[in-house]
Amino acid sequence: MADGGHTFVKKTFGKPTYCHHCSDLIWGIIQIGYICEVCNFVIHDRCLSNVVTPCSGIAPCIIKNPVAHCWSEPTHHKKKFCTVCRRRLDDSPAVHCLICEYFAHIECQDFAVPDCTENATYVPGKELQSVKHQHHWREGNLPPTSKCAYCKKTCWSSECLTGYRCEWCGMTTHGGCRTYLTTECNFGILQPIYLPPHSVSIPRTEVPIEAIIGVQVKSKTTLVRDYSCPRSISEEFSSGDAPRFKDEEPLKIDAMHVSAVSGGSGTSSHYRPESSSHKSEKSDKDKTKKEKESEEKDIEMIKVFDGNNSFRRQLYRVISVSRTYTLEQLLTTALRAFHITRESSSFYLTDLYAPSGMEDTPLQDPTPVMNLTHLEGKRPAIYLRFLDKGKGHVRVYPGKLQCSLEEPYVNVPVENTTVIKDLIRDALDKFGFHDNQMQDYRCSEVLLDRGVTERILAWNERPWDIIKQLGKESIRQMELMRFYLQHKQDPHGPNIALFVGNLPPGLSQRNYEQILNKYVTDENKFNSIGPIYYEYGSVVLTFEDAQKAVRAFYNLRETIIEDKKLLVMLLPNIEPSMVPPDVRPLLIFVNVKSGGCQGLELISSFRKLLNPYQVFDLDNGGPLPGLYVFRQIANYKILVCGGDGTIGWVLQCLDNVGQDSECSSPPCAIVPLGTGNDLARVLCWGSGYTGGEDPLNLLRDVIEAEEIRLDRWTVVFHPEDKPEEPALKAPSNTTGKKKKAHQAHLSQQTNQHQLPAITSTEISGGGAQNEDNSQIFVMNNYFGIGIDADLCLDFHNAREENPNKFNSRLHNKGYYVKMGLRKIVGRKTVKDLHKELKLEVDGKVVDLPPVEGIIILNILSWGSGANPWGPDKDDNFSTPNHYDGVLEIVGVTGVVHLGQIQSGIRTAMRIAQGGHIKIHLYSDMPVQVDGEPWVQSPGDVVVLKSALKATMLKKGRGKRRLTEPHISPAVLSSTLSASATASVAASQATIQINTTGSVISGPGQGQAGSTPENGDREAVTGT
Ligand SMILES: [Zn+2]
Ligand SMILES: [Zn+2]
Ligand SMILES: [Zn+2]
Ligand SMILES: [Zn+2]
Ligand SMILES: [Zn+2]
Ligand SMILES: [Zn+2]
Repeated sequence: MADGGHTFVKKTFGKPTYCHHCSDLIWGIIQIGYICEVCNFVIHDRCLSNVVTPCSGIAPCIIKNPVAHCWSEPTHHKKKFCTVCRRRLDDSPAVHCLICEYFAHIECQDFAVPDCTENATYVPGKELQSVKHQHHWREGNLPPTSKCAYCKKTCWSSECLTGYRCEWCGMTTHGGCRTYLTTECNFGILQPIYLPPHSVSIPRTEVPIEAIIGVQVKSKTTLVRDYSCPRSISEEFSSGDAPRFKDEEPLKIDAMHVSAVSGGSGTSSHYRPESSSHKSEKSDKDKTKKEKESEEKDIEMIKVFDGNNSFRRQLYRVISVSRTYTLEQLLTTALRAFHITRESSSFYLTDLYAPSGMEDTPLQDPTPVMNLTHLEGKRPAIYLRFLDKGKGHVRVYPGKLQCSLEEPYVNVPVENTTVIKDLIRDALDKFGFHDNQMQDYRCSEVLLDRGVTERILAWNERPWDIIKQLGKESIRQMELMRFYLQHKQDPHGPNIALFVGNLPPGLSQRNYEQILNKYVTDENKFNSIGPIYYEYGSVVLTFEDAQKAVRAFYNLRETIIEDKKLLVMLLPNIEPSMVPPDVRPLLIFVNVKSGGCQGLELISSFRKLLNPYQVFDLDNGGPLPGLYVFRQIANYKILVCGGDGTIGWVLQCLDNVGQDSECSSPPCAIVPLGTGNDLARVLCWGSGYTGGEDPLNLLRDVIEAEEIRLDRWTVVFHPEDKPEEPALKAPSNTTGKKKKAHQAHLSQQTNQHQLPAITSTEISGGGAQNEDNSQIFVMNNYFGIGIDADLCLDFHNAREENPNKFNSRLHNKGYYVKMGLRKIVGRKTVKDLHKELKLEVDGKVVDLPPVEGIIILNILSWGSGANPWGPDKDDNFSTPNHYDGVLEIVGVTGVVHLGQIQSGIRTAMRIAQGGHIKIHLYSDMPVQVDGEPWVQSPGDVVVLKSALKATMLKKGRGKRRLTEPHISPAVLSSTLSASATASVAASQATIQINTTGSVISGPGQGQAGSTPENGDREAVTGT
């Protein structure tokens, strides 16, 4: 449609107004332009001839493949415009799409066009070379300073909904300039890590897309949509307590305000809540009072219901019309209120409050408005109805079938007696498929009411009946409904994978099968089971039949085993051959529980910037579902957003799935969240993401990062047999303690229901706990015995008691220090640590100096960025790194020393370097592996190089951004090594904030003033 299907009327604007097409001001002493009566699109006279933005009245019909949006909960948005009514969102609550940049008032949500980005478009048999993507244009709400890709001029506006931006590649342009750009999209700068939509398929089921993407849905109602066909509901509304004559508060009223329209036609529709009817008079303030009064007398406000469904839900629109309106004028205004632009001859109106027996009588000329029944205290109300002429045209869309149609659909004539079989035949003919096998196709009806729902039609169903029935329920739904032809074969293929988590860990395959068979009924039985992740209590079930898979999905979701609700996900499928060789898709894991709300912000940004099927919420099944989905991709990368514990968790899962995956060691990048982040610091990803950085830049850094190896170590604990202390000997007890610590740790990382195994598994080791009662851990960062582990433990326990207190990184740090100070008095356990253990490095016994703690380091960052080893010295030790196969062992003399190390003003005592470490503990001892603490009973501890490897991504040099605020120059000028400097800066900065203004002296300003006790005490008092 050349004019975009708008219903333009000339309008004089009282204040500066901008053209939505070209974003320029509409100039002149009297500002005359055009406005669409349906969608509020405002345009210059001069731009009228090449408008490209379709009217909301026709926009749903011209989408080839409708895709529902994933709506957020209602929130307030600043400086955004409603994509539907084009007005500001400022004051009223609004929803936005979690996948694309669609914004809408709550009351406009019903009219949202289901044109979300298509992220799973795999078609069997299509060659990779022949795949072309087209820009997915979204109008308005462009980032400030956006420039037009064609004319290079500014194309965004803070004044109105204008300009276009491609949801894939981020290109921005004017509406008018869009036609000069190539339509092909290459995904822009993120192309190297973008999971191509044409490689992804999702099963064609009625499971809402949110559930497959893994968007956390708050209420069950949003997950299980109301799939009941509107027509299947009994249409009795006059019975029982139905509010037939009850005026309810308006639930959904389009607040669109098209103010008085010129031309004297008076067909303006003031769609607005009755309660605020006076507000809209504002714009009429230039009229004289007298004129206004006479106008008001002449104006009638009428409620319009769009069919039975709209009546049942009390969803109506209010129109204001002149009492002298003809039937035709009234009908057109009523249709427009529902964004229906089709000519009015197919519809008629009835009086809702007509006396009994007259309900179905159509309104007649003359003066239909005056003839409406007026009930005391109620607005007159009319019913919009479909006029059944026994035949007509229906729209059939080819969807993803490859045909060269000009229009997005074909109009096929049907009659009362036409059946779907005829419709398929006629439509295939019109698509130009002449030698086709009808039985290869199926026809479905697709409803676009608040999302996209599909129902496959039987061959003997009658399309005209379907239309008529829909029309009774809702004229708008009837208008938006489409018939859709598809190949019978699901492009996703027959294998639908369900991921099931939260099962009891460590059972046998037989046991898992038994459990699951109990909850999926016989007729929904899965075809195969596996892989099984025993330690995690997770399995993948494969179904050959989509219907069975869906029923099993809903059954299992409601199943509770051992007090835990099963976690069930329907997984997308990636066809590896459709990933171009130059693309290494990025698998993103976000720990939304880390770092306050930053995880949530990041996950929503990444879902918009990349394909949402490559972004996984760790709170929803942990790393395994993502790793399973990516298992056939030969070359990909991982981005972990979370703390060091989260990274350890992902690496541990990678160890588990490694053998079954094409890519056994994908390199991992990090966006550090929360506290600690020693591994992230060593790899130059910074100390913690504070939300200040553009997520797009984070992804750029990932693209440019270099691969680097990370040594990993196995820590094996062999507790001694101590018959006189059964409590300590019994595996249930010693593990109990560990289990608790581990659980405490994991419960921050995951939700409580979703615990991985009690301990990590070494592949060569075969199991977490061997017959001889030993425990095996994988260590990535460091292993501490004594004082630092003890502090870690206290901190941990405190956090467990009151997790809400520990949301901010600053707070965490302050608390850590407070615990440390308390420990100065009354410490006994680790006082003579050097006497309580024996240390052997590479087969040689090492004499220990008097220390209260030993730390064994794989990376040169510990305790939130400190470097206990320190810079190079003229001694016998070699320069350490995290891939040389050598560990560094240092000693700490006490809590004061520990604090000094943490503040960067002293280093620890260097004890040894080596690749094989054996320690014998003579008494109970606090220990920590990668920040997970527990109390270990006496026995042997062995640390040796693990067979497991990890490839990490290190952020490129010279582009380092310190994300901690306020770095004092004094600190930066210190003589410490570069990495230590950064961490000191970070810790000093933290203290500065905590003490609210008190100046902390840097290391350069004398040791006395900056002892950690002082600094830390201030930090504590500040909190
Ligand atoms: Zn213009
Ligand atoms: Zn319009
Ligand atoms: Zn709106
Ligand atoms: Zn969307
Ligand atoms: Zn694009
Ligand atoms: Zn332009």
